[in-house]
Amino acid sequence: MKVYRVGILGATGTVGQRFIQLLDGHPQFEITALAASDRSAGKSYAEACAWKLCGDIPPAVRDIMVEPIDPPLDCDIVFSSLPSNVARETEEKFARAGYPVISNSSSYRMDGDIPLLIPEINADHLRLIDFQRQKRGYGDGFIVTNPNCAVASFAPPLAALERRFGIESVIVTTLQAISGAGYPGVPAMDIADNVLPYISGEEPKVETEVQKILGTYRDGQIEKADFTVSAQCFRVHVLDGHTAAVRVKLKKNSTLEEVIQSMVEFPGLELHSSPKHFIEVCDEPSRPQPRLDRDRGAGMTITVGRLFPDNVFDYRFVALSHNTVRGAAGSAILNAELLIERRII
Ligand code: NAP
Repeated sequence: MKVYRVGILGATGTVGQRFIQLLDGHPQFEITALAASDRSAGKSYAEACAWKLCGDIPPAVRDIMVEPIDPPLDCDIVFSSLPSNVARETEEKFARAGYPVISNSSSYRMDGDIPLLIPEINADHLRLIDFQRQKRGYGDGFIVTNPNCAVASFAPPLAALERRFGIESVIVTTLQAISGAGYPGVPAMDIADNVLPYISGEEPKVETEVQKILGTYRDGQIEKADFTVSAQCFRVHVLDGHTAAVRVKLKKNSTLEEVIQSMVEFPGLELHSSPKHFIEVCDEPSRPQPRLDRDRGAGMTITVGRLFPDNVFDYRFVALSHNTVRGAAGSAILNAELLIERRII
């Protein structure tokens, strides 16, 4: 198996650390470059990074010198976990310099020629890459993105429903973990003993990304799925794992058994980071819970529960996923595996 050299932009941050943990021992990738802000550049990774994950910093990256976020970097593929205000210009520079850029940031997600991927759902949107390269003059480089971490938790069950029954409209309330705000994130004085009813910029992302993900590729463009989403996003006192409470109105009549079946039978992939079960539906009345369910499928499975007919809409359910794995670094790695399998990298 060919081993690709990868660089991580924003390597010292919450998502950057998760990349380093997930890539340790990965058969297809070797980390050869790490980049972050001026605060970190010029230091060894161990010196620059306030490591917040269980276990030690993997020995293979401890002594790598952190570089500024400018090309060139000594790697074949760039994973980006930069804040969106710096990501747009930086990711563009790397794509223009010929690198495949696989991004977690929101900067390019909604651009018409940029794939917004959940590989199990819309791998065919990779066809945008040819148009992107032509339009932007990127040569061999390109940009691919993964969704907002809250969207990653409920887009998969909605994909199952959209394919089988069609969706008319959705109401979603997200309960988002503290790690979703990066490090150091939300002050303890704000989040302890509390629920915050505002996450800057989050509701518009949650209301628009899913229609692009569930959209149809046609002639170099994505025709967005035609349902509306109304979202309220809350920050809650949970470390990892975003929960979404969803109510959905469908276009066709359906039984509860058919709805459950559409989710559990939604096909997964067989890439290295694919979970055995893409969507699991649990019967226990008190699940899913972040602490108990976020690590299903090594953090890559979506757990659905509380799935019932609804008095106002057709069905309601709760969906949960690990925000820094399925919602960020794990998804980006899955995207890279898909790009290699499809011979785009
Ligand atoms: P974070 O913990 O704040 O980390 C930010 C990283 O970017 C650090 O490595 C930091 O380097 C670097 N950085 C910050 N400002 C920079 C600048 N001006 N120039 C160069 N590097 C800079 O944030 P995060 O949670 O990892 O999020 C990173 C991105 O992923 C964001 O776009 C976020 O929206 C997205 N995302 C996050 C999650 C999540 O669950 N956390 C999920 C999905 C997507 P220093 O350490 O040197 O300051």
